[in-house]
Amino acid sequence: MTEIRYQGIGVSAGVRIGTAFVYNPVKPGELQERKADNAEEELTRLRHAKARCLSELEELVERTRSTLGEEKAAILKGQISFLNDPTFYPPMEQLISKDAWSAETAVGKIVARIAAIFENMPNDYMKERAADIRDVGGRLTAKLVGNGGNRLTDIKEPSILIAEDLTPSDTVQLDPALVLGFMTRIGGKTSHTAILANSLGIPAVLGLGNALDGVPDGATVILDGSTGECLLHPEAATVERYRSLMLAEREELERLKRFSEQPAVTSDGFRVEIAANIGTPAEAESLLQKGAEAVGLYRTEFLFMSRTVMPDENTQFQAYKAAAQAMQGKPVVIRTLDIGGDKELPYLELPHELNPFLGYRAVRLTLDRPDLFRTQLRAIYRASAFGTVKIMFPMISGLGEWRRAKALAEEVRQELAAEGQPMGEKVELGIMVEIPSAALLAPQFAKEVDFFSIGTNDLVQYTVAVDRMNEKVANLYDYFHPAVIRLIKTVIDASNRAGIWTGMCGSMAGDPLAAPLLVGLGLHEWSMSPSALHRVKETVTRLNRQDCIRLAERILELETPEEVRQALQEFLGEYSR
Ligand code: PEP
Ligand code: MG
Repeated sequence: MTEIRYQGIGVSAGVRIGTAFVYNPVKPGELQERKADNAEEELTRLRHAKARCLSELEELVERTRSTLGEEKAAILKGQISFLNDPTFYPPMEQLISKDAWSAETAVGKIVARIAAIFENMPNDYMKERAADIRDVGGRLTAKLVGNGGNRLTDIKEPSILIAEDLTPSDTVQLDPALVLGFMTRIGGKTSHTAILANSLGIPAVLGLGNALDGVPDGATVILDGSTGECLLHPEAATVERYRSLMLAEREELERLKRFSEQPAVTSDGFRVEIAANIGTPAEAESLLQKGAEAVGLYRTEFLFMSRTVMPDENTQFQAYKAAAQAMQGKPVVIRTLDIGGDKELPYLELPHELNPFLGYRAVRLTLDRPDLFRTQLRAIYRASAFGTVKIMFPMISGLGEWRRAKALAEEVRQELAAEGQPMGEKVELGIMVEIPSAALLAPQFAKEVDFFSIGTNDLVQYTVAVDRMNEKVANLYDYFHPAVIRLIKTVIDASNRAGIWTGMCGSMAGDPLAAPLLVGLGLHEWSMSPSALHRVKETVTRLNRQDCIRLAERILELETPEEVRQALQEFLGEYSR
């Protein structure tokens, strides 16, 4: 077999050689039958799935009517009637409450039963309705099992996963012992799938496009998560070459281990705080050992995404408390729910949006759902009794949102104080600066917030107008864009003038190439994927602040991302001489 080389977008570093596991999501009806012990939970799942199907179908009817006409729209209207028909939906509920079937099994059984009745009718028109029943059943099942992800549990041996796409909730379920690495057809550098791959330490290449069609199950593949290079049917010499790369990688990681115990201080004494981003409290457990001095971003949405119902106050409290305790008094910045964009919550019944990244996301949603927001804030404030907890609001675009969020937090704090709940003495409140409007208004915000954390992943997407998920425009997505650098400078300068601190929790903070610029601009706290901690620390300790300040001044005069990269590469090159 001939060796074939593909080029994708490397999003999580590491070389891996292994056997391909081609992930084909299960089609509705092919699911294993499953009983469930909590009928109430299954009924709620089913109800939510139905509601989501209905709103999706209603929207489709409208769209179809204007594009394809009334006749085609009527077919979809038929599906809505099925969903509302007393012979279709209520029997599913009965199968759950009487016979303890899971929601998706109940759907499968009723769909099969009713489709068979239609199929046996003499009239052709009626026969065809069986397909509609199956279609609507498929729609419901997809809402219940998401991508049909249970096939991922079929991975029994260490493999390289090949998939069309992995949702962030698929990715959180991956077991790094079994999934050596993964390649997907779509996705970009800062999609949440990429971020999760990084925090799980799984090498990944995304955005491979149609090339992936040619990869058969069981074939030998190689992926390089740094360069984005992938190989199918590699020749013996190629395997050898990548084996030595893997070895070198391992040696380099060993060498860098000493930075677990060293702070990040430049040769002239400028010290920066090196923090880590986490998605689960378990990830916090090993952080102190790895040399992280804080958690600069706890993405709480993964706690919400890994379950089928909303986590209650106590469940959330336990998770936040565990993270605070694991850090033993070191700061833990807990970000309130950032759902929307590429992160869905099936049980929230969010409307389908044409531009989800510009829509009902993060603080826009939580401010609209004070019930949900209050519960989370209560849990965070309660956890603050167990360490140094700070609260951060995502996607703030203007002062109004910040003030409303702050007022609600204060209300919750007072309520807990009145209940006599123990809490940390001072819980700082800050905002993510990830929308250009917030960066430009940093001097105004700085008078009111306790801190800023720059989210470059979104800041780039919103400044350069380039979808962080879209591989077609990935070449435009660059945090070294001069416009982005100016916004970062605006934020840090504003915080310095106001005497507050600025962190950065987007991917730029974890890139050693960005380190001289960030030292030069005076960034205080750097939060990154745990795998980047040592390399960034090593780079900072090699630098001299005064040199970096001069470099930053020079970079601010540059006009293109390419020029910025080149200046940084040359600067670091000089240092290693
Ligand atoms: C960011 O936008 O840079 C960020 C850290 O948040 P997220 O990647 O979760 O959107
Ligand atoms: Mg963001």
